[in-house]
Amino acid sequence: MSNGQGANGTPDSVQVTMYDVGFGDCFLLSFIYVGGSTKRVLIDCGTRNAPAKMGPAVNQVLTDSGGHVDAVVITHRHLDHLSAFGDSQTGPQLLSLGPQLVLQPWTEEPDLDKSAADENGAHVQMLDAGQGFAQAVMGNSVGVKGASPEQQQIINCIAGLSIPNKAALECIAKLAPANAHSYLSAGQNSGLGNLLPGVTVTVLGPPTLTECPAIAKESSSNPSEFWQLQESIAAMLGGGAMAASGDELLPGAATLERCMASPEVRWALNRLDGINAQNVERFVRCLDSAMNNTSLILLFQVGNKVLLFPGDAQWENWSYALGKPEWADQLKGVDLYKVGHHGSGNATPKDLWNLFDHKGPAGQQGRLVTLMSTTVGEYNGVPASTLAPALGNETDLTRSDQLASGATSYSCTL
Ligand SMILES: [Zn+2]
Repeated sequence: MSNGQGANGTPDSVQVTMYDVGFGDCFLLSFIYVGGSTKRVLIDCGTRNAPAKMGPAVNQVLTDSGGHVDAVVITHRHLDHLSAFGDSQTGPQLLSLGPQLVLQPWTEEPDLDKSAADENGAHVQMLDAGQGFAQAVMGNSVGVKGASPEQQQIINCIAGLSIPNKAALECIAKLAPANAHSYLSAGQNSGLGNLLPGVTVTVLGPPTLTECPAIAKESSSNPSEFWQLQESIAAMLGGGAMAASGDELLPGAATLERCMASPEVRWALNRLDGINAQNVERFVRCLDSAMNNTSLILLFQVGNKVLLFPGDAQWENWSYALGKPEWADQLKGVDLYKVGHHGSGNATPKDLWNLFDHKGPAGQQGRLVTLMSTTVGEYNGVPASTLAPALGNETDLTRSDQLASGATSYSCTL
């Protein structure tokens, strides 16, 4: 009964499989019950930098799951967590998994009131506008004026994560009937308890803005205007869009090639270009953090084992959960931690790390298991040079970029 029919009681064990998708996440949880019946949950399926790895990874997911999963979790809207759903080959394969439940963060709620009068809706409107900005940056073939090659590479990498991903979202919407999609915030019932007998799932994040204003701190006091301003800057990048629209600053005025201008004017223009590039980089970083902070944080309790899947949640999202004593207590007992945001420093806050009671020296019984899906050199400062050694010294760490040659996945059983 591998399709999960007849699953009851508490699972005997849970198997977690991490797929090598480059810089991205794809995890399969298999809850194995007495008699061998199994329930499965797929958490994310995407890559930022390795589309060639997605085909083999999804094929492996289909094999490992027997062609069906009970639930799909999309932690947040970033490319590296959902790109496979937007691909013409892997998208239909994932659709065939036929989950009964699809979980996404509250920010994805299609019927959300996005009027400025609602602070949560206004925040999502800001995220939408920010994604439009990221799209404009990525569509600008000339590059950002004043950006060095290294800066351009960083901007492209970060902006590329936050493009709207429309095809993937359309596919995700079709995974299950509309009433089988749940858009969750911290503390809500995940609905997974009905599908996974004997498993308790706590939604630790994301909080709504009402619960935790800090998740919006990257935006200005007037978020939508802030991003609209940046969209207009994006339209100006390279200078082509403004000129093409005829929307000139001083219509009809004589123009001069930059090389013909005086050294003082060229100096000033170069400085302005540099400021422009810094601003664009700052804006895409803000957007990246804001999107990461929409991540679902799920805590699975299976018998006496505790598994933590936080997507890419950063400090502002985590601060809400860590401020609740009963949740902080539960976090002490974590046995398996999916390392947040591919190993970035601010996605594993010290306050969280310090809670983990099962850290310890190699060979310690019941030592904390950590799984880190990452690629070195793809995203500036990830994995963090302080976190990676700590994970290696104090936990049983497995990294997707260090799997045995030819392996597409790694599984462990608790
Ligand atoms: Zn990510």
